[in-house]
Amino acid sequence: MASLPLSYYGEDVLRAVAEPVRKVTAEIRKVIDQMFDTCAAESGIGLAAPQVGLSRRIIVCDLSHLDMEPFCLINPAIKRRYGPLETEAEGCLSVPGVFMDVTRCRDIVVEGRDLKGRLMRLEATELLSRCIQHEVDHLDGRLFVDWVEDREQLASEIEALQGRLAEIKLTGKREMPQGAFVG
Ligand SMILES: [Zn+2]
Repeated sequence: MASLPLSYYGEDVLRAVAEPVRKVTAEIRKVIDQMFDTCAAESGIGLAAPQVGLSRRIIVCDLSHLDMEPFCLINPAIKRRYGPLETEAEGCLSVPGVFMDVTRCRDIVVEGRDLKGRLMRLEATELLSRCIQHEVDHLDGRLFVDWVEDREQLASEIEALQGRLAEIKLTGKREMPQGAFVG
C-alpha cells in the first residue's frame, strides 16, 4: 500500500480547476494506483487527484462494499444529470468530520477515459452517481460544503473543522468516520 498525504480544506489545490490529462503515461497510472490505495486506507468511497495535491482531472471510485469493482475515470465529464433531486448527507476526506445534507440529481451519464485511455460511458444512479458528482466537483475546485443550504449550521461546522485541522497538522492523526459517505 502506498498512500499519499491528503490535502485539506483551506489548501489552494482544492480550489483550483484541475488540468486535463493529455496522455495516460506510466506516471499517471502509478498515481492512480496510489489514489486507489489512499482511498482504501482512508475508508473513502471516492477520491479526486486534487485531494492528494495533484491538480489533474482524475477520480477513483471504490464502492467495493457494494460489490462494485473499483474504477478510475480520467478527464471525466458529466454529460447529463436527470431523475429526481435527492438529499443525502455527504462527507469528504478533505473536510474531515463534517457531514451535511447535499441535494443532487439522482442519475447521471458520465464519460471519461480508463487506464488504457479508452473512452468509457457510464450511467450511474444513487450512491455511485452522488460519488461521481462529488469527485467531479473536486476537479472544478468545488467542495460539497459549497452546496450546503443550511449556511448557519455550516458556519459552526467550519469553525469546529478549523480546530480539527490544527490537531491533524500537529499530530497527523484524525478519527476515521465509518459507514457514511466520504469522498
Ligand atoms: Zn471530497
